[in-house]
Amino acid sequence: MNKKPGITFGIAADLIAAHKDSFFRIASQHSNDGIVLQDMHGIILWANPAYAALMGRDLHAMLGRNPLSFCLPEDETPSAAQIAAFRYDPQASSANDLALFRNRHGDGHIFWNQINQSFHQFPDGMWISILACRDVSEQISKEEQLMRTRDDLARLAATDALTSLANRSALTQFLDNQLARKGAGHLGILQVDLDKFKTLNDHFGHAAGDAMLVHVAGQLRKTIRKTDLAARIGGDEFVVVCPDITSLAELQIIGASVAQAIGQPLRCSQGVITGQACVGAAMVDDASITAQDIMRRVNAALYEAKSIGQGSVAIYDSTLHKRITDEDLLSSELMTAVSNDALSYYFQPIMSLEEGDIVGLETLVRWHHPRLGLIPPDSFLPVARKLGLMAQVDFGAMRAALAMKQKLNAHGPNNVRVTINGSAELLRHPDFFTRLSGTMAKRDVTAKEVVIEVLESVVIHDQDRVNPMVTTIKRLADEGFTTLLDDFGTGHAGLAHLSTLAVGGVKIDRSMTSKICDCGPDAKIIAMIHDLCEDLGFYVVTEGIETDEDAATLIGIGGKTVQGYWLAKPMPADDVIPWLTSRPDLIAAIDRSAIAPVPRQRYLRANS
Ligand code: C2E
Ligand code: CA
Ligand code: CA
Repeated sequence: MNKKPGITFGIAADLIAAHKDSFFRIASQHSNDGIVLQDMHGIILWANPAYAALMGRDLHAMLGRNPLSFCLPEDETPSAAQIAAFRYDPQASSANDLALFRNRHGDGHIFWNQINQSFHQFPDGMWISILACRDVSEQISKEEQLMRTRDDLARLAATDALTSLANRSALTQFLDNQLARKGAGHLGILQVDLDKFKTLNDHFGHAAGDAMLVHVAGQLRKTIRKTDLAARIGGDEFVVVCPDITSLAELQIIGASVAQAIGQPLRCSQGVITGQACVGAAMVDDASITAQDIMRRVNAALYEAKSIGQGSVAIYDSTLHKRITDEDLLSSELMTAVSNDALSYYFQPIMSLEEGDIVGLETLVRWHHPRLGLIPPDSFLPVARKLGLMAQVDFGAMRAALAMKQKLNAHGPNNVRVTINGSAELLRHPDFFTRLSGTMAKRDVTAKEVVIEVLESVVIHDQDRVNPMVTTIKRLADEGFTTLLDDFGTGHAGLAHLSTLAVGGVKIDRSMTSKICDCGPDAKIIAMIHDLCEDLGFYVVTEGIETDEDAATLIGIGGKTVQGYWLAKPMPADDVIPWLTSRPDLIAAIDRSAIAPVPRQRYLRANS
């Protein structure tokens, strides 16, 4: 229930009148805040016990002194002359403001004193200063702790845990800030990628991989300038942002020293490992460029460096820019062509040299470009691979080959097998086997009528390790397909693995057959491959046979199956049946008496 205000005030007014002095005494004696009255020279006129407790000093001993002589940390205490000259200016001082001071307690410890000051003028004109003081050290230390925690959290969120370099989000922020800096010089970006990091991880284990990443981070820190920011943005990818770069040449020098530093050997528990890095470099030379643009450019430069080789540095200059923009256009046109099923598939015949029969047709993709004309596969398949379109290209080849086989079974010789080039992307596609068998069923084709060529590099990678593609090859063999190792002899450790793979044979690459008729080392190697494959029961196709002489030499070697311009160039699907029915008898044209056996040295067999 509310009391009438008049009555309440009446009681209070009486109380106030009766106890005015004791109220003042109680308040000043029992206040938790220290209260001190000073004259304009800062001399203490009066203080309450809480002030004495706060300062850790005797109340009476403080009277008549300026607190400046005892309350500040020793190294901040003003001289006696400065204290004597001290004056408060009630007009200038902003009364009722809270101020914080580091003060010294009588026992020597430092505390935070929060002071609220006001001034009062007596009727005789005298001014006094009233200070209300409070020890807020605990709050301050909590605040500091909070701030430290906040900073730590911010640092953690911006740091890569393994290397302590900036992480991707810190990089993005730094880059955005740099791009927004007005009047800044050119901005340089380096992208660094460790070569063969995966192999290192696989061979030496993750601890060694981590040690290598930490090594890279350390070398980056040592090499770059103080103003640069180095970040790890993913597995083995690092980016350095270099503000105020004067030229691409300067950036290239930084890039080269980064690559050189990373290439220094690293001693770790697994021994001494040496990593090598490729570096791409790009510079912002235009205010309209976005962070995304510059990252795309530096990435393109990195790709370029990788294509040059380990330890290379490549810069994004006008030449690369032109090539990339051309490639970008080509990429989008290729995507359209693939999705519209607009690629063509040609067929190149393969013949048995013993019977003179056509025994195979290799399916080879072509792109009839509306502006650029016919583009050979070597020019656009790398782009298709980059775009992840390889499986689609090969599914197209598969459909074209099986349609061709159905046509041959109906209208041509039926002992011709069709060959498909199987990229890694095709062979590991989850729908590969289902689509293959589905299309074969639709076209009434059996596995025995299909050959799949697989590049050595697809099955054998990293010199001598065999990858999971081996299982796919085995399944193909189990289902009755013939698999050939394509481009045999082009540098991989094919021979060593031949017996461990479920392949039916090899296709000798045209890079080896181009000089076959010289009867030089290549011819001897081809002869040796034939001997070896005969022993292993492998089928051998020799491609790239261009002339009668090449063919005669191959016959001399004992080659049984041939593909090459000598027989026929790859041809459009519609030309295949007409060609088959009217083809010349090439074997009859060879002057067999001129065939000289290739001087051969049998390969060394364990029992020979
Ligand atoms: P490849 O599988 O080694 O195919 C043989 C290549 O050698 C073909 O080039 C063929 O036209 C060419 N060739 C054949 N005989 C001769 C000859 O006597 N002299 C010369 N100079 N060349 C000859 P093409 O069609 O340009 O294909 C190049 C490569 O592109 C192929 O090499 C293959 O690796 C790849 N490729 C072509 N089509 C496809 C496809 O549909 N899928 C996949 N995955 N790769 C394909
Ligand atoms: Ca091939
Ligand atoms: Ca080849």
